[in-house]
Amino acid sequence: MSNRHYDVIVVGGGASGMMAAGRAAERGLRVLLLEKNKVLGRKLAATGGGRCNILNAEPDVRQLLSRYGDAAKFLFSPFAQFGMQQTWDFFVAQELPLKVEANGRAFPECESAPAVVETLRTYCTRNQVEIRLKKAVDGLIVKNGAVVGVQVGSEIFSAPKVILATGGASHPELGASGAGVEWLSVYGHTVHQATPSIVPLKVLEPWVKYISGVTLQGVQVLFQNKKGQHKVSGSVLFTHFGLSGPVILNSSPKVKELLQFGQVTASVDLFPKADIGTVRTRVREVFDAHKNKQVKNILGEIIMPRLVAALAAQVPVEVLEKRVHDVTKQEREQLADALKGIKLTVIGTMGLEWAVLADGGVDLQEVDTKTMESKKVAGLYLTGDALHVNRPSGGYSLQLCWTTGWVAGSAV
Ligand SMILES: Cc1cc2nc3c(=O)[nH]c(=O)nc-3n(C[C@H](O)[C@H](O)[C@H](O)COP(=O)(O)OP(=O)(O)OC[C@H]3O[C@@H](n4cnc5c(N)ncnc54)[C@H](O)[C@@H]3O)c2cc1C
Repeated sequence: MSNRHYDVIVVGGGASGMMAAGRAAERGLRVLLLEKNKVLGRKLAATGGGRCNILNAEPDVRQLLSRYGDAAKFLFSPFAQFGMQQTWDFFVAQELPLKVEANGRAFPECESAPAVVETLRTYCTRNQVEIRLKKAVDGLIVKNGAVVGVQVGSEIFSAPKVILATGGASHPELGASGAGVEWLSVYGHTVHQATPSIVPLKVLEPWVKYISGVTLQGVQVLFQNKKGQHKVSGSVLFTHFGLSGPVILNSSPKVKELLQFGQVTASVDLFPKADIGTVRTRVREVFDAHKNKQVKNILGEIIMPRLVAALAAQVPVEVLEKRVHDVTKQEREQLADALKGIKLTVIGTMGLEWAVLADGGVDLQEVDTKTMESKKVAGLYLTGDALHVNRPSGGYSLQLCWTTGWVAGSAV
């Protein structure tokens, strides 16, 4: 049995763990970073579709914090220490210039999430962090209410400070499982159960799989059931099980709320900028120009051809099979109306393995807002997805990691 002593041990080499380890080592501390995967930052390398939406460049701190809901008050102090501007400057100083796209979403100019991993790995190695890969920590060693080390199989690594950066429960195949956080209930922490938070939606209609991969830009989706409604605009991606894409992912917390009261109807308006009269006129014009053709063969003039499968579920199939000159006015208008509201039945969200974000984690009441230190276990610090903070997609998750990682690394 070997025994190694360090000033700080960081458990988890993801976004917040690398930031925390590099920062602590930069202050001259002897830091050990333990990662169970064979590489650092697997989830980070997959962020933003491989481009990494590294932060949200909202300059107004209060506005930025408002995106974190109930956690805004807790985050005020850490963001005052290391907020968006400091994060931006940090990456630029590490020679990773950033750029801003729509809605404040910032990306590295090189548009490479692996480059972000490499930047943080270099930050760690340059400051002499000892990185050990393929080291799955089995548990903390806590004596008299204070952490004194961690256990990895038969090995013990000791330190008076441990930063737990093991992440949340989404996409477990990328390393995080939420297990690290669950250890903490033994020490009196309240650990909120992980459920998928930002996650694609599952629908009842089997036809979606025929248009899987189709992205519709600039559509409007109205989610509703007897409990309420939620309307959003943007791009929607059809998948083999239902709906995804940024606008759907960001709607998923609201849809989840509605789902508690039963199924939710999603009505997709393909032409939100045109009123129903305009759409009916457009359909009539196309019909007038192709009187001898079958309806299904001219719909491609109005919508992308792959969407005909979606329409087939909204109007009687016989109408699509008819020649245009045989279609009644009522049938033609029914078709136009369907373009203003393709109906789907949302029956649930996909599971944790599909979630961009899982909620859950350690209750913020039990964490020191100035340092990220646990109020239950002295010397233990918590960062990133290990904390119970809900937020939308758009760079807010990684900002939380940079902020809490830096604050913990500065406080240990
Ligand atoms: C597909 C996808 C895309 C995303 N895109 C974005 C985006 O563009 N912008 C954004 O802001 N957010 C995005 N997110 C969310 C963001 O990736 C996470 O919020 C962030 O990675 C959390 O960082 P973390 O340090 O808390 O945990 P993680 O990055 O998950 O790192 C935790 C690390 O701990 C390791 N670990 C776990 N248990 C142990 C153990 N027992 N011993 C040793 N090591 C352990 C894991 O292997 C992992 O490497 C995305 C998430 C997903 C799944």
